[in-house]
Amino acid sequence: MTALETRHLVKRFGGFTATHDVSLSIRKGARHALIGPNGAGKTTLINLFTGVFAPTSGQILLDGEDITTLPAHARVARGLSRTFQINQLFGDFTPLDSMMLAIGERKGHGRRFWRPLAADRDVAEEAVATLEQFGLADAMSNETKLLPYGKQRLLEIALAIAAKPKVLLLDEPAAGVPEEEREEVLAIVRALPEDVTVVLIEHDMDLVFSFADRISVLAAGALFAEGTVEEIARNPQVKAIYLGE
Ligand code: ADP
Repeated sequence: MTALETRHLVKRFGGFTATHDVSLSIRKGARHALIGPNGAGKTTLINLFTGVFAPTSGQILLDGEDITTLPAHARVARGLSRTFQINQLFGDFTPLDSMMLAIGERKGHGRRFWRPLAADRDVAEEAVATLEQFGLADAMSNETKLLPYGKQRLLEIALAIAAKPKVLLLDEPAAGVPEEEREEVLAIVRALPEDVTVVLIEHDMDLVFSFADRISVLAAGALFAEGTVEEIARNPQVKAIYLGE
């Protein structure tokens, strides 16, 4: 019942250990938050999960399968998806274009770029339906770069979901979103499909505590504490190192 697992994961950059013997187990369907102060190693861990970095030692398992040495695209194909960073969205494309590409890629059309995707009615219909589900229907024909920031963040999540992931790595979904757009983004995050395991990397403790069912705390590259929201909230060491109390 484990969706994503690491075993004694280590990542060194030269003499510096950014990930220190991390053994983490994220169960299927979990809403699992990964927190820790700046420099704790959260981004490094995500890059190890997705295959951006190769670990120095240790293992990563997705759905029980060892994916430690698989390239990034093979991990995506096996159901590991992360939100795109904003600067990776095609700014001149419309959300509909991007969504049709994402869905076309999943359906194996990715290497036939020259074929007009609009000709694939099933792709177009699914793209529109997915955009509607994420509240992006009104914006789907505008250039992405002209959309309000909150809508761009929603598009990142929608594109990641279009890959039909088993595990979704959500990297600070509401970061930088203006207050008036924030609730819309959070509502979508809370309404993500239950069968998708969500790993949330987040600084905003209100969001972590309202969203997560389990929390892992990283500090100086190591797993410092892990538990339910209640356990972490009352852990005095976590408060001391992380919450600054
Ligand atoms: P977080 O996301 O929790 O803020 P990071 O994973 O970005 O932490 O960074 C953890 C530590 O690893 C930091 O001290 C950072 O300087 C270091 N680090 C991250 N990536 C590299 C890299 N490519 N080369 C050298 N050091 C790195």
